[in-house]
Amino acid sequence: MDFTLTEEQELFRKTVRQWVDQNIPKSLANEIEQQEHEFPHQLWDMFTEAGFHGVGIDEQYGGQGGDIITQMILMRELARSLAGLAWVWGISSFSGAKSVGMFGNEEQKQRFLPKLARGEIKFAIAYTEPDGGTDVLGAMKTFATKDGDGWRITGQKIWSTAAHVADYLLLLARTERNPEKKSAGTTVFLVPRDQEGITTRQIPKIGMRAVGSCEVFLENAWCPDENVLGEVGRGFHQSLATLNNERIMLAALCCGIIDGALEEALDYIQKREAFGKKIGQFQAIQHFIADMRIMQTQAELMTFYAAWKQQQGLDCGLESNMAKIVASENAGRVADLALQMFGGMGYAYETNPQRYWRDARLYRIGPIANEMARNSIAEMMGLPRSF
Ligand SMILES: Cc1cc2nc3c(=O)[nH]c(=O)nc-3n(C[C@H](O)[C@H](O)[C@H](O)COP(=O)(O)OP(=O)(O)OC[C@H]3O[C@@H](n4cnc5c(N)ncnc54)[C@H](O)[C@@H]3O)c2cc1C
Repeated sequence: MDFTLTEEQELFRKTVRQWVDQNIPKSLANEIEQQEHEFPHQLWDMFTEAGFHGVGIDEQYGGQGGDIITQMILMRELARSLAGLAWVWGISSFSGAKSVGMFGNEEQKQRFLPKLARGEIKFAIAYTEPDGGTDVLGAMKTFATKDGDGWRITGQKIWSTAAHVADYLLLLARTERNPEKKSAGTTVFLVPRDQEGITTRQIPKIGMRAVGSCEVFLENAWCPDENVLGEVGRGFHQSLATLNNERIMLAALCCGIIDGALEEALDYIQKREAFGKKIGQFQAIQHFIADMRIMQTQAELMTFYAAWKQQQGLDCGLESNMAKIVASENAGRVADLALQMFGGMGYAYETNPQRYWRDARLYRIGPIANEMARNSIAEMMGLPRSF
């Protein structure tokens, strides 16, 4: 088994890294993150210019093509500088485009994918509801009622990232009141966001603040039939099919956080002095670095293994859950060690470790809590379902 990048992939990685260092260095990410609640349109526009929105979208729909490894490389390299702000790319161009690519009909692919690839439209994901994200089906009250040549949707979503600036909400709603099974009777809609029946409120939060995560209130919001994605009643089943990809991509983002935090720490300890020495000469600090390097490799190998299985067409449910857990937990620990090495300045908004640390904390909770990911792993090992 060989996880070495191909020549083409390595060239892509190097090109993206160079582009990131030139255009979106960590200092810019830090600056953007201070402008709380202001969506970083400049990042979006720079991604458009670089062609990143088309990565992973088929060439026949105006994209650049590229498999999951290519998308992982892009996500990781963006997150090395941007940390959670890498979702400015990921929500529309990865999550949104993936769902349309997998479940859209030909007309929908023609209508949405070229615009996504050109950076002309933005998506937000609106699955989670206020009563719970882990038990998403148990908590779901948002209901869509058939009305003429479309649907009327009423309910509330929470934590929909970038909903305030999105053109479309990729929204999961109940379309059947009392289905035999909880997992039946739900449908995915591409709801036009800018309409009278929809309001949003940003929730102030501790990390990836600039990108904005919202409560979404829907009161008879309108969605035309042509924006129903996939089969009516099969929405939840459809979303299960995208979960492994999402977990692998999240793990890649966490690898990027580890890369960025480790790089920052290595640089700092070779400049900062105490007791007449560079602090990088102290054994305790060197052990921190060694531990970070170990965690980096562990996260990377598990992420690549899951992606490799996915690419071979093998079942990667177990591996993508494991990669998501290890990468998110290692990212938090690595960022914490980096912050520790910066001493007091680690606690200052002016330096980068705090940003990695705040952002990494989220990924043990969402898009799936690590407890739930562990539940799934245990179930895959033959234990009785615990939830
Ligand atoms: C910043 C941010 C951005 C987000 N972006 C989006 C987005 O764009 N779109 C979207 O739809 N959602 C988004 N989410 C929602 C995210 O996916 C949920 O927060 C996550 O799924 C957890 O759901 P919850 O917050 O309701 O926690 P809960 O489901 O209430 O869980 C609370 C705690 O209980 C534990 N728990 C629950 N059930 C079990 C069980 N069976 N076994 C063990 N432990 C259990 C959980 O692990 C957790 O620790 C975002 C969340 C945040 C914070």
